[in-house]
Amino acid sequence: MSKGTLYIIAAPSGAGKTSLVAALVESTSHICVSVSHTTRAMRPGEVDGVNYHFTSVDEFKAMIEQDAFLEHAEVFGNYYGTSQAWVEEQLHQGKDVILEIDWQGAQQVRRLMPDAVSLFIIPPSKQALHERLVGRKTDDASIIEKRMNLAVNEMSHYGEFDYLIINDRFDDALFDLKAIVRAQRLAMPFQQAYRQALLRELLS
Ligand code: 5GP
Repeated sequence: MSKGTLYIIAAPSGAGKTSLVAALVESTSHICVSVSHTTRAMRPGEVDGVNYHFTSVDEFKAMIEQDAFLEHAEVFGNYYGTSQAWVEEQLHQGKDVILEIDWQGAQQVRRLMPDAVSLFIIPPSKQALHERLVGRKTDDASIIEKRMNLAVNEMSHYGEFDYLIINDRFDDALFDLKAIVRAQRLAMPFQQAYRQALLRELLS
């Protein structure tokens, strides 16, 4: 069986990455999102095991010791990490896997898995980003200010990614995301694996 593709998707907080990825997964077969481990506090509406695996700092450090993470990073004072075993299992089953991670994690994954396809999502303007962070109503003004500074730092790494998507109109950005996944699946190594029977018949 052919291995799935590993997608790295990064964006500044507030660019709409999570909603876009959810819509992509809902409308595409054989693709799933890795649920990261984090030490940050749960936000209202979040569910343990769905949005993140919420863990203590001690548990997280123990997982680092056990080499349980494909990558891990400290973002905004909290630890975040991707379970290596889970990702490998999905890829082995032929599923595509999406990692919603930051630029630091992206660098680590690229080094370990050079075939990973990486995408960066940006907002249409700084003002739009600010409005989206305020609209979330999850953070106070000083946190939003810090998140804006962090966003600029995150966006400074856009050039390290294979694709750049601008999330101005949601449907257009989703179309772009889907186009990248579709093109990847049409690439020769994948078609050779998936269309073996057809290719054999045509050449017989
Ligand atoms: P939030 O706390 O707002 O959900 O996420 C904050 C940042 O952490 C985002 O940039 C998000 O992409 C990143 N992040 C989430 N999970 C992981 C992970 O497993 N690894 C890394 N490196 N970053 C992550």
